[in-house]
Amino acid sequence: MLEWLIVGGGPQGVIFARALQRYTCLDPSSLVIVDRNRTLLSEWQRNTQRCGMHYLRSPGAHSLEPDFGNLFQFARTRGFDPATHLMGRYQRPSLELFAEHSREVIRRGELEGRLRSATVDALSRERDSWTATTSDGTSYEARSVLLATGPGRPEPAPQWCFNLRRDVWGHVFDSAWELPAGAPANRVAVIGGGATGAQLAVRCARLGSDVVLVVENPPIVEQFDSDPCFIGRRCGADYERASRDERRRMVTAARRPGTIPPDVALTLDRAVKRGDLRLVVGHIVAAMTEHGAVSLELASGEVLSVDRVALATGFHWDVEEARSLVSDPLPVDPGGLPMISPWLEWAEHLFVTGRLAEGEIGPPAPNLIGAHNAAKRVIAWMKGEAATPVRGWSHYR
Ligand SMILES: Cc1cc2nc3c(=O)[nH]c(=O)nc-3n(C[C@H](O)[C@H](O)[C@H](O)COP(=O)(O)OP(=O)(O)OC[C@H]3O[C@@H](n4cnc5c(N)ncnc54)[C@H](O)[C@@H]3O)c2cc1C
Repeated sequence: MLEWLIVGGGPQGVIFARALQRYTCLDPSSLVIVDRNRTLLSEWQRNTQRCGMHYLRSPGAHSLEPDFGNLFQFARTRGFDPATHLMGRYQRPSLELFAEHSREVIRRGELEGRLRSATVDALSRERDSWTATTSDGTSYEARSVLLATGPGRPEPAPQWCFNLRRDVWGHVFDSAWELPAGAPANRVAVIGGGATGAQLAVRCARLGSDVVLVVENPPIVEQFDSDPCFIGRRCGADYERASRDERRRMVTAARRPGTIPPDVALTLDRAVKRGDLRLVVGHIVAAMTEHGAVSLELASGEVLSVDRVALATGFHWDVEEARSLVSDPLPVDPGGLPMISPWLEWAEHLFVTGRLAEGEIGPPAPNLIGAHNAAKRVIAWMKGEAATPVRGWSHYR
């Protein structure tokens, strides 16, 4: 029987696996990560590359290794020029540096060898273990399971999309999506004013497309996508004291969806000023395909004529996807979040991370630092510690 089964080999699953390796006496062969993809971090890499992200939004201290100086040390020893690969006050790593470091972390932990490529279809509890059944018919028995199943599915398309031919539109986070570059489909509408939309619009323009970025509201500039105060003890302690209702309100107030970091805002602004792309603030009310071209009608009456539509509208998260894996009903609060213990246990020996752990970890739960805060909790539980560990920047205990 395995000690740990991790469902999901994205950043959250990998961070937890590395924390187990570093801070517990886990026998390496008693850990398995099951992911739909053939390699770890597939969806993270695909999504960040597609939208043309150059720098992570989070600081370089937040990497996949549970040691907050590790990426900087790696950058130094591997000769990454800090002027190019670490941006600004928060030392945000370039995507290239982060990817190289992530490969190194996975290599150190020999984690690709622990990956099994399959979809977990069901989890059932029998006496003192969980059995996971997968799409390829294999089953895994483990003492404990971590659900690290990700940020959800691409946000459903707006209704007007369904008037268009299916091959002219898609969501940038759909697995089958392709970059709309080059003739003849050269005029592209990117829909969505967050960091993904802004970066994608600039990327398409650089590749030679005639781009219009359509946003509901003028872009809002914010360094981070949620209030960093909740990473550490200051706001974290308030969060832990708050009732579930108050926590929900705190998360809503602390999250900054659809905002863009200053460097992306500057790049977008320059691209607009140079005439490389057009920024249109408006609400699309209708769409149609005529003679192969797409017409998008805005509430203002303006009609945009394009060849392809790229939706960059984020993710839609639904607790039921994870919940439906388990045959016994798992408790969910009225806000749709798992009712979990402070140690992130949803059912006996079934733990969660990422958005699923938001009720305990708070606003940063889906981010890299949220994964570390979650891993610290579960490891403290494994060690039988009475109090939940300190959040944030401090090292694991
Ligand atoms: C463009 C972009 C940029 C971002 N930038 C940052 C940043 O700079 N800093 C930061 O902290 N955060 C950032 N984030 C947020 C967050 O870190 C990422 O979304 C990250 O990928 C989340 O990791 P994850 O492991 O939860 O999800 P994923 O990377 O999606 O991994 C989840 C994995 O679980 C697998 N899975 C799900 N269900 C099953 C199942 N039943 N069976 C088998 N496998 C399953 C999926 O196939 C997937 O591979 C960014 C997000 C995006 C989209």
